[in-house]
Amino acid sequence: MRMGYKTYTCPIAHDCGGCEWLAVPYPMQLQRKQQQVEGLLGSMAREDGAVVEEIRSMDEPVRYRHKAATPFSYGGRGHVLCGFYAAGTHRIVRCRECLVEDERARCVLNAVARVAERLHIPPYNEDRGVGVLRHAVVRCGWKTDDVLLVLVSRVEELRDERRVVSELRSACPEVTSIVLNVNDRRTNAILGRRSRTLFGPGIMHDQLLGCTFEIGPTSFYQTNPEQTEVLYRLALEGVGDARRALDAYCGTGTIGICAAVELPELQVVGVEQVRGAVACARRNARANGVAKRCHFTADDATTWMAREGAGERFDAVIMDPPRAGSTPEFLGGVAHLAPRRVVYVSCNVVTQARDLALLRQRGYRLERVVPVDMFPHTKHVESVATLARR
Ligand code: SAH
Repeated sequence: MRMGYKTYTCPIAHDCGGCEWLAVPYPMQLQRKQQQVEGLLGSMAREDGAVVEEIRSMDEPVRYRHKAATPFSYGGRGHVLCGFYAAGTHRIVRCRECLVEDERARCVLNAVARVAERLHIPPYNEDRGVGVLRHAVVRCGWKTDDVLLVLVSRVEELRDERRVVSELRSACPEVTSIVLNVNDRRTNAILGRRSRTLFGPGIMHDQLLGCTFEIGPTSFYQTNPEQTEVLYRLALEGVGDARRALDAYCGTGTIGICAAVELPELQVVGVEQVRGAVACARRNARANGVAKRCHFTADDATTWMAREGAGERFDAVIMDPPRAGSTPEFLGGVAHLAPRRVVYVSCNVVTQARDLALLRQRGYRLERVVPVDMFPHTKHVESVATLARR
């Protein structure tokens, strides 16, 4: 039977450019992503006697983003605009609703613009480096009702801060926490280093694979929690029955903690460079009853490997680096440690392919490659590669 493809539409798709593949039917998007991973990792996998498995897709590929952000700018007559930058520009395209975001998120961001307008908080001007309100970032719980709003400001304090908070709370009663993050650098990075809680606990909670996680305003947390469970499940399968695992680039400790909860004998060492995320990871380990078996260190993964790695023993290494991938030094350190299994989780298959080639030269073979669709309607694809020691 030939089925008609359901297509998805969005009124600002043309301008926004966020969902560059929206016009492509979902099954064809999946096919393209499959081919992308196949093209980069397929021949390595085949040489090692493995295959690239079928991409893990979403049943209903909408409303999957639980994190949303907006820049601000002046429109005419003191209006404060928010939404998305039109592709390749600093022109803001307004957005009332977004197909791929949690429904609560855009409402909160739009409310911030209205409050900024009313209370005369000037939007930041990226080109001139003046103004106050740079961005707002909102994170909504998937399994919880937590909604954490982060206002990113160029200055340490907002004028009439109390009033800002009370207006935001009455406009968006669903917000459970408001944090002011200060970013005074001329950079296109959204978040700055300092944060101060204006309302609520200043963090949010969510659940993945039955574990509870606390997420701070500047810590990394996967944007698509539903598919994150699929991703983590694959990572845990790769860890197998290991007794001691390294969770490198561990963020708030989510993968290692899920593994420790599932495997009562497992010891985990987590390494992550963002201090706030490491503090969350430690609390997360306690909250899930595995603090005795999970130890987290704030360090650059490569530096840690050079300094501490040699004295360690692991039978599994999980690594989940950012888009730039890992370093030859870190990968060399992994090979030197000679764990039975390496699980490489990646959001950029190009750098993953480069890094896997190095591990294959240093005594590992690909056992399994699984693409995961974490970002439907975009060109991005995630992939989990499991390697075994030859
Ligand atoms: N595994 C986690 C985080 C993955 S994102 C999760 O699933 O949520 C990648 C993480 O690597 C981020 O938390 C980022 O802060 C961290 N990171 C980036 N560069 C790093 C480096 N050189 N050393 C250690 N951690 C790094």
